[in-house]
Amino acid sequence: MALHLYNTLSNKVEEFSPSLDNTVRMYACGPTVYDYGHIGNFRTFVAVDILRRFLRQSGFKLNHVMNITDVDDKIIRNAAHEHKTVQEYTRKYEEAFLEDMQTLSLERPERMVRATEHIQEMAAFIQQLEQKGFAYRAEDGSYYFRISTFPQYGKLSKKDFSGMEAGARVDVDEYEKDNARDFALWKAPKPDEAFWESPIGPGRPGWHIECSVMSMKYLGESFDLHAGGEDLTFPHHENEIAQSESFTGKTFARFWMHVRFLLVEGKKMSKSEGNFFTLRDLLLKGHKPSSIRYLLSSVPYTKQLNFTFAGLEQAAHSVGRLRDFKTRIELAQLRAGKTPKMQELAEKTKRGMRAGLEDDLNTAQALAAVFDMVREANTAADRGELHQDDKGPLLEVLQQFDEIFAVLKDDDAEKINRAMEWAKAHGKLNEAEASLSAISPAPTPSAPSSQKQGLSWKTPRMGSGGNGNKRSAITQSPQPRQ
Ligand SMILES: [Zn+2]
Repeated sequence: MALHLYNTLSNKVEEFSPSLDNTVRMYACGPTVYDYGHIGNFRTFVAVDILRRFLRQSGFKLNHVMNITDVDDKIIRNAAHEHKTVQEYTRKYEEAFLEDMQTLSLERPERMVRATEHIQEMAAFIQQLEQKGFAYRAEDGSYYFRISTFPQYGKLSKKDFSGMEAGARVDVDEYEKDNARDFALWKAPKPDEAFWESPIGPGRPGWHIECSVMSMKYLGESFDLHAGGEDLTFPHHENEIAQSESFTGKTFARFWMHVRFLLVEGKKMSKSEGNFFTLRDLLLKGHKPSSIRYLLSSVPYTKQLNFTFAGLEQAAHSVGRLRDFKTRIELAQLRAGKTPKMQELAEKTKRGMRAGLEDDLNTAQALAAVFDMVREANTAADRGELHQDDKGPLLEVLQQFDEIFAVLKDDDAEKINRAMEWAKAHGKLNEAEASLSAISPAPTPSAPSSQKQGLSWKTPRMGSGGNGNKRSAITQSPQPRQ
């Protein structure tokens, strides 16, 4: 078999492979950096991480792009409220997100790109959409996409917009309504709002245009896969398709992967329900990063996950069993030779894990395979049936498992300490529960160097028409004004 994925666009499970060469070109919508990431966000990022890890294990190379949305209505409003520039306001949350990624052992995508570093390209894209007749300028200087020029609108979300009102407009980034509206591509500044100067006038880009421009810049006009949370299907991804395909006349992304929401204790997560948790909230309650990652990855991404504290305890137990098994096998003093049954078990487990993941990333099936092996091998060890040469194959299975699930390395205490340091620095230490001291050894005097790396932004590849060093272009480009 080969990897099969559910494609929202075709509404079918299809065999997935990259279209050009051995490299998978994929884009995943990243965080909007106006707050700390919550576990619902991280369920999506963990699912995408599992996809990328499995693609690599399957022999593909990756070009995975993730955006950082560092400008939108909320950011502009919050920054103004705190008397900060957009950049000052967002940088703190961006750094927190990168730390959180490390906490959950999420691999860094090949490129992480900030919206505010692509404003001029977005303005140029909108200008061309206008010239081609797909966009228009409103009286206040904002630009809108003309939905009536894209008859396929709704093909991703399977919504029927046949009765849509031509010319009706919406200027917010997120709208729930089922009726289609011409959506904002560029927003003219309101009084006292931050804005950027551009050839299409002062303003700021809409959220949707950001992902179209940055994905096509780094991955080409057509690429293999676009991922995001299920809530992004409409309108965000539908709008990305409309803008991009109108512009190029080509298929934008071939595969669309949407990760389902999670519930917390059986209910939709919300601040008013009191079941809203950031990753940091859970760390300060003493939960291990490995338990959180395990729980988030244990239910296949196409199914709703009910995130509960009992489930988190269970996850901690499961991770513990796997780590104990690994230690047991590593340290066991065994007789020379090998047991054919164990050699077969290792092979069977590898096949089982792979078959699960190839089946639309069925992580539950892959986990079941590895736990079957742990049980059988433990029984064999108890009976003295394990031999020295069985160690290699069994440990190899665990390694293959951990290339995807990434929970075997015991660095939880170090990561929890880091969260404690952060809590101390931000006056949130009283939120940490007493249980924490049981898990966490004395705080280390200095942060590990890996934490201090910060964000090593990849310098975007510039074509022959490039305008030189992109890092310096950051400071040269018009800055938002308050
Ligand atoms: Zn996006």
